[in-house]
Amino acid sequence: VRRGVDVTHPYHVRTVHQAYVDAGAEVLLTNIFQATDSGLKSRGCQISPESVISAGIKLARECGKWVLADLGPYDDEIIWTQQTARWEYSCRYHLAAANECDGLLIETISNDQPVAKVFKQLGPQRFDNQKPILVSATYLRDSEGIRTFTGLTPEEFARQIENYWFVQAVGVNCGRDIGIRECVEIVHRYRDATHLPVFVRPNAGTPKFRNACWVYPHSAQYMASWLPELLQAGVRMIGGCCGTTPEYIAAFKKVIDEWNARIVR
Ligand SMILES: [Zn+2]
Repeated sequence: VRRGVDVTHPYHVRTVHQAYVDAGAEVLLTNIFQATDSGLKSRGCQISPESVISAGIKLARECGKWVLADLGPYDDEIIWTQQTARWEYSCRYHLAAANECDGLLIETISNDQPVAKVFKQLGPQRFDNQKPILVSATYLRDSEGIRTFTGLTPEEFARQIENYWFVQAVGVNCGRDIGIRECVEIVHRYRDATHLPVFVRPNAGTPKFRNACWVYPHSAQYMASWLPELLQAGVRMIGGCCGTTPEYIAAFKKVIDEWNARIVR
């Protein structure tokens, strides 16, 4: 850990990363999701974002061949406008940190605002343009169908993101009342709206709180059974979001390897 700051539980973080590598994961995400000043403080963490981010990248790098810097949604719009200086600082630090990884994933967003703000802030030339930038939205399902939390359809989100020349892939991760079945629909709708490669990190369904813990309804086998539909729909990268343990990644890996072997033959 750099700068002599002790970040707690590095062994546990490394163990989690290693478990995903052992399950067959080819890309690791750093555990710096929402490691912003306000994000850490709201969880009672007194450690600076810089220390958490540096440690997170180092630990992922120790285990994974490919590592994406994982940027969650920063803050809501009110905090953005009230604490612009602080937000800019966090943003700048996240992007600098992303340069130490193989690419950048901006995830769990609901419109292009975080993407726009990141690059308005720094200018794309400040990020090594050899490295891929991936952008992933999260969705909910209501009477209107599948929408982002700001009301965009998958087609509208894909078209927004396509406007940013530096974005190299568009994805979907997680959501409320969204599972892998809906991810298949979202991939089809992305494909109809954009030429960008599409990636997916489905959640294991919407969790329910039972017996003092959160339980995810979809098993590894159930989700793996949907993978051929995702692959058929043209998805180029598959991972997992909330509730997907290494057991899920191992189940996904088996299906993907079989699919790839069939394609090569
Ligand atoms: Zn998630």
